[in-house]
Amino acid sequence: MSQEQLAVQRVRKAFQTGRSKPLDFRVQQLKNLQRFISERQNDFIDALKKDLYKSKNGTLLYEILGLEGEIKLALSRLAEWAAPRPVVKSLLTISDEVYIRPEPLGVVLIIGAWNYPIAVTLQPLVGAIAAGNAVVVKPSEVSSYTAKVMELLNTYLDPEMYHVVTGGVPETQELLKQRFDHIFYTGNSTVGKLVMEAAARHLTPVTLELGGKSPCYIDKGCDLRIACRRITWGKFVNCGQTCIAPDYILCEPSIQDKVVEEIRKCIQDFYTDDPKTFTDYGRIINQRHFKRILALMEGSTVAIGGGHDESLCYIAPTVLKDVTPESKVMQEEIFGPLLPIVPVNGLTEAIQFINEREKPLAIYVFSPSKKVIKKMMSETSSGALLANDCLVHFTISDLPFGGVGNSGTGCYHGKYTFDQLSHLRSCLIKNLKMEKLNLIRYPPHTSGKLRWARMLLTKQVNLKRWRQLMKVAMLAALAVFVVKRFLR
Ligand code: NAD
Repeated sequence: MSQEQLAVQRVRKAFQTGRSKPLDFRVQQLKNLQRFISERQNDFIDALKKDLYKSKNGTLLYEILGLEGEIKLALSRLAEWAAPRPVVKSLLTISDEVYIRPEPLGVVLIIGAWNYPIAVTLQPLVGAIAAGNAVVVKPSEVSSYTAKVMELLNTYLDPEMYHVVTGGVPETQELLKQRFDHIFYTGNSTVGKLVMEAAARHLTPVTLELGGKSPCYIDKGCDLRIACRRITWGKFVNCGQTCIAPDYILCEPSIQDKVVEEIRKCIQDFYTDDPKTFTDYGRIINQRHFKRILALMEGSTVAIGGGHDESLCYIAPTVLKDVTPESKVMQEEIFGPLLPIVPVNGLTEAIQFINEREKPLAIYVFSPSKKVIKKMMSETSSGALLANDCLVHFTISDLPFGGVGNSGTGCYHGKYTFDQLSHLRSCLIKNLKMEKLNLIRYPPHTSGKLRWARMLLTKQVNLKRWRQLMKVAMLAALAVFVVKRFLR
């Protein structure tokens, strides 16, 4: 029996004890996770420096802060999330208890990616624990130093209920042969298809957090200085290796040179004249991706940057201009510090350009005009739409984070992770009285019974309104009583 098979068996056995169901247990495990992050913070900072050349504060800002926020939120809202959720009743069920009961799914497999290796691996874990599941966590082997720190999680959480499995593609494939109750995968679409295929063998539901090319349209009328600051940050943070980074810019030819100049100023401002020696500018994760990204530049005109150093996996912040839809850089997600500008003739053409391609994870539109923003919103589809900024929708726990179509399926963050990894069980608790009401459903099915059924089933009961009416009726009765008793 393989290590992976053994690990899954052990975790399932622990789940079957029912130990993870009481909220106290989940709260304790979330606190253990919190302790793991704070006690191992320096190990993570060192690891991410080695994996991606992330600075200390960069790691704290982009990896740890959000995760801590998710744990805090889960701890404070768990009782509310896990409580039965009453629903609107029909006249037929008015005297019954009708509610949704969130229940754990069982054993969840979380497969993480390497670009924000802590956030994308441990944020789903927060919701999985909160929802009462047992979990197998598989961090990306590509960010190998961080994966090593992640192994220590086994000593913080209940070692039978949660298990971190490290390894590469063979280990992940072995895991995927096992039966899970949910698979939560973050990574590229090609592997996403393999994950879905493997899950289908057991009819296991999946969440796929994928990527793709997120477009960024800059409207002629907008403040280019501000727009370019926000876009430069969104693109070059983590050296462009961000799933929701603006992949390319669409703008009218008349503003292209101005956009290039503004981005040039921002790059200097953020990363100095020599980003290679600047602590807050990252590196490409490995030589394979370094070569892939460099090859994407072929055939395009470099307007800014273009410098690189293979020995350090360094590629300078780079802007490409007059890029054509047929060019190499427009054929796949860039996932690196290249920012192509594709000239289009206005908003309608930009929308058409976007709609001719796969549905992106995010669409960015920069414009002071609500009309422009609304048009982009109503005529396209994407995981998220953000106007006049980049990336920051990721920080709002009340917004579901996820893709649509080729950019993913399912979503997470805050309560959405909890719901995604729960079974929302429908519960109807009747008593054995009021059998007369049931006569309408027993044969023979007469027209009279059908009329009653239509009335009872199609009328929804607004309990709030009923309670208000009851209050009014009680007040009226009280008034009548007072008048009769005292004022006569
Ligand atoms: P990766 O190479 O780390 O792969 C992700 C996981 O898949 C790893 O754990 C790896 O072990 C496993 N894996 C790889 N090949 C496999 C195979 N053949 N069979 C089974 N398992 C396999 O990460 P990646 O795919 O390079 O990640 C980058 C992609 O992830 C980009 O497309 C990016 O946009 C996307 N991403 C999306 C999000 C999101 O939240 N939507 C977040 C981060 C990254």
